[in-house]
Amino acid sequence: MQIQDVELVISAVAPMQYPTDGLPEIALTGRSNVGKSSMINKLIQRKKMARTSSTPGKTQTLNFYKLNEAFYFVDVPGYGYAKVSKTDREKFSQMIETYLQERTTLRGVISLIDVRHEPTKDDLAMYDYLKFFGVPVLVVATKGDKVPRGKWNQRESKLKKALQLNQTDDLVIFSSTSGLGGDQIWEWVTAHLPE
Ligand code: GDP
Repeated sequence: MQIQDVELVISAVAPMQYPTDGLPEIALTGRSNVGKSSMINKLIQRKKMARTSSTPGKTQTLNFYKLNEAFYFVDVPGYGYAKVSKTDREKFSQMIETYLQERTTLRGVISLIDVRHEPTKDDLAMYDYLKFFGVPVLVVATKGDKVPRGKWNQRESKLKKALQLNQTDDLVIFSSTSGLGGDQIWEWVTAHLPE
């Protein structure tokens, strides 16, 4: 997809700040350092729109990026960062739970997992949670360039098995350095936005 227009509309700390224009939303989740900002920047063809984190876990806001004035990418704070306090962790859980439960404009979630490793406990919990809410999920296995091409199929099956991926959900191997998988992600996003 060609992205002509990107606007960070709000970094929200509370639901009352969420946009009210009713445009559809795709949320992006993943643990800190998984490569979420790099993926967003690659997909929207901007160098530094989403901040790549030297201090992972710091952003505890929901960032609403309006794309082509047609839909939002909602960047959810990275989870599983050890230095985040228990109180902040609880605040984060509460925020994301409320968002997933109540946001009627949410059309799907892109859930990021590092292709090289087994999903962490937090990764598994997040995916189960999304399944529980019945929201369509695309799992993006990040840093695909760090695994040799010959191992991609094996990694894909392993991750699907570990997550017990729903038949209606999908998995794409992505690399923000090579752009691998970018077209498939956009296909999924387009398919989940209203006509
Ligand atoms: P975030 O915390 O999830 O937003 O992660 P970042 O996008 O900031 O990435 C974390 C680190 O992983 C950075 O050092 C990135 O350069 C690196 N990284 C992200 N995506 C890729 C990728 O596809 N390939 C490689 N080799 N490195 C990546």
